[in-house]
Amino acid sequence: MTAGGEAIRAVTVFCGAAPGGGAGYTRAADQLGRAVAEAGLDLVYGGAAVGLMGTVADAALRAGGTVTGVLPRSMLRHEIAHPGLTELRLVPDMHARKALMAELGDAFITLPGGLGTAEEFFEVLTWSQLGLHGKPCVLLDTDGYYHPLIAFLDHAVREGFVAPGDVARLLVCRRPDEVIAALHAAVPHG
Ligand code: AMP
Repeated sequence: MTAGGEAIRAVTVFCGAAPGGGAGYTRAADQLGRAVAEAGLDLVYGGAAVGLMGTVADAALRAGGTVTGVLPRSMLRHEIAHPGLTELRLVPDMHARKALMAELGDAFITLPGGLGTAEEFFEVLTWSQLGLHGKPCVLLDTDGYYHPLIAFLDHAVREGFVAPGDVARLLVCRRPDEVIAALHAAVPHG
């Protein structure tokens, strides 16, 4: 993994394999996928055709973007592989998936999602805390979905388990159209 601080050419997006309960989540995934492609950035994601994952990929492809999916072979049956991707990288297992997704992206964006999304989010955030990468991490707090998570992180800082700087590095955006600007502000020469 690179140290970060380099030009952002590809972003890795973590998001739900489900669409979630509100139309706002699908709308945000659609807007983000389009914004990524229109900014000329490649999209890296989990490779599925379902849920917010499918929505973000569809939107980027429709806008003429390059989309790489990373899917474990064992998941092909559970998460239908997106048939229209620029490239589908089949990997042996979940660990290989996360490693490749982390390597291919120059920044990480987390949209609403479930346990898998939370796990991916916390992994790149903890790797940032450990100095294993310096890539920007964005949390897209659509319709306040992540308010409880942000409250938990603040609680963990207050209780002395997390250093304030480690949470402060996290970029929280409310709307998809703020994300690209936040990335460029974090990596000015990117
Ligand atoms: P979810 O947020 O639970 O809908 O999951 C979103 C994506 O994360 C799906 O593609 C899951 O297969 C994936 N995922 C779940 N757990 C893991 C894991 N331990 N490592 C890598 N990907 C995972």
